[in-house]
Amino acid sequence: METYDHKSELTNVLVIGCGGAGLRAAIEIKSQGLDVKILGKRPKTDPHTVLAAGGVNAAFGNLDKADSWEQHFIDTYLEGYGIGDAVQIEMMAKEAPTLVEEIDNWGANFAKLDNGKLDQRFFGAHKFRRTCYSGDYTGYSILKTLLKKADELNIPIFDSQYVSELLVKDGTCFGAMSFDTISSKRSIYFADAVILCTGGHTRLWKKSSSRKNENTGDGYHLALKAGCALIDMEMVQFHPSGMVLPEEIAGTLVTEAVRGEGGMLFNNRGERFMVNYDKERMELSTRDKVAIANYTEISEGRGTKNGAVYLDISHKDREFIMKKIPSIYRQFIETQMLDISKKPMEVAPTAHYSMGGIHVNALEHCTTVNGLFAAGEVAGGLHGANRLGGNSLAEILIFGKRAGIASVNYSRKINYQLRCYETVQRAHANINKFLKKGKELAIPLQNDLREIMWKYCGVVKNKDLLLIGLQKIRNIKSKLKNLDVRIDETSCKDLVFALDLESSLISSESTVLSAIEREESRGAHQRSDFPKINREKNFNVFTKLNKNNDQLEIKKKPIKKIRQELNDLVSNAKQDNIIKNKLLE
Ligand SMILES: Cc1cc2nc3c(=O)[nH]c(=O)nc-3n(C[C@H](O)[C@H](O)[C@H](O)COP(=O)(O)OP(=O)(O)OC[C@H]3O[C@@H](n4cnc5c(N)ncnc54)[C@H](O)[C@@H]3O)c2cc1C
Repeated sequence: METYDHKSELTNVLVIGCGGAGLRAAIEIKSQGLDVKILGKRPKTDPHTVLAAGGVNAAFGNLDKADSWEQHFIDTYLEGYGIGDAVQIEMMAKEAPTLVEEIDNWGANFAKLDNGKLDQRFFGAHKFRRTCYSGDYTGYSILKTLLKKADELNIPIFDSQYVSELLVKDGTCFGAMSFDTISSKRSIYFADAVILCTGGHTRLWKKSSSRKNENTGDGYHLALKAGCALIDMEMVQFHPSGMVLPEEIAGTLVTEAVRGEGGMLFNNRGERFMVNYDKERMELSTRDKVAIANYTEISEGRGTKNGAVYLDISHKDREFIMKKIPSIYRQFIETQMLDISKKPMEVAPTAHYSMGGIHVNALEHCTTVNGLFAAGEVAGGLHGANRLGGNSLAEILIFGKRAGIASVNYSRKINYQLRCYETVQRAHANINKFLKKGKELAIPLQNDLREIMWKYCGVVKNKDLLLIGLQKIRNIKSKLKNLDVRIDETSCKDLVFALDLESSLISSESTVLSAIEREESRGAHQRSDFPKINREKNFNVFTKLNKNNDQLEIKKKPIKKIRQELNDLVSNAKQDNIIKNKLLE
């Protein structure tokens, strides 16, 4: 049904994405008196943010008095292997206490100590107990609170709107095109400023802790087409333990608390193999090291027939397990009829978090396109080569708010709202080009892509694998023009899947190209052909779309110089290897 019809809407700021970052941004904008609208492509009560379990970091020092923003900075910077944006990290470390306290006061109801202060738990690689939490459902309680606040402020949320294009003219963004995911009716949202809060791209791997139809890299695609750069797309965090069965939910997270509570890893010979990878810390080693250990055992033939290793906590009694890790106990009973107090689980690494993303200025989270901002998992730079657990929930609150304020300031300063008929027509044409019969279906191609990313751009990569993967991605890309996309008044799923696939392909391609460019092993990026880190050269990898030939271009740039005071902090920091009692997630 080719059409150039649309409904027009007007707002000061348009927020794309109703996860934690999008909601926090919108609350700030409305509180400052401007008009804001939020769009999302899945139910507002069910964005990726609800999955976050373990907690959110803020250096209150409620239990460990010596904690400070400085130590939070040091832990985050060092664990990011020196390529994280120091200014972003400093902002996060300084502002987290205010923002975490604020959301608790708004109703998140985090766990409290007897003295009424927020309780704090250990998370891996944090020197002190710094992670505030609500049981094992912190993301849900944050989201619920933000939704309540947004409702009190009468912020309109349209959560069945798929954004297919940002409207950009001469380097300025003036809105977005979307369509209703059921009726396919199109809307143009004209806005002074737009904030992208669309999450990451980890659903592109066969095994992923994301769910269907989320994290398909839409924001990266929208940003590239708008003229933005992406930073360090090769930095994808693999969590050591995802479920392998049943196939439909392969990758679903098995929390690191299982290992924290005494779970042991075994290969198919019954060997407790972590002794070969980190003799001291064993199963309590860092996330990247355990992921590589699991991966190596499986790929060298010492895994189970389902492509996993065993994670065993059956030496603990059922009461202990029900008290400490009740959700995991239920997860295995419900999906596999497996009683983990009697038998071991089978687990394998799973793609978990996108550390790279849209390149933004640290303070305002603005992009290089005027009027376009980005916040949350879609933005890059904060985590460098490895994300510490608990830092992303802090990120969505802090930089959601900062992007909100910056968009308000931008909106207040502009003299007129841009319009461009040709840009709008092009946005229509970019949807219309898909609406035809064809030989290919998007879902099988998406599944092929997930296999490719897993096999050729997985936990450990090398140049040969990456080049084969790149070729295979481009082969799928060439099939996009033959997609069969049919829509009617009751469904436009074909169109949704087609656009998901288009975004997934360009996100995969930029990830693989960046991974080829980074000839070293650093944090989450592991290359068997370059097994060592190159400390001499700290650089970021940037991806841009060349509009003239529609090709992605990759550039390495030395990392920005870190401020002397921060540099002194890092240089004087002592490595902390004490892991007793520390949960790792
Ligand atoms: C199992 C699990 C556990 C985790 N635990 C923790 C934890 O304990 N602590 C922590 O700090 N972090 C944790 N994380 C990470 C954290 O949950 C995420 O990084 C964070 O919630 C991302 O929030 P966001 O607002 O950036 O994006 P999301 O919550 O992913 O929201 C993205 C929004 O964008 C919308 N969207 C996407 N594309 C489009 C489009 N084309 N058009 C319209 N809308 C679109 C989506 O519908 C959604 O509303 C965990 C992650 C997982 C998977």
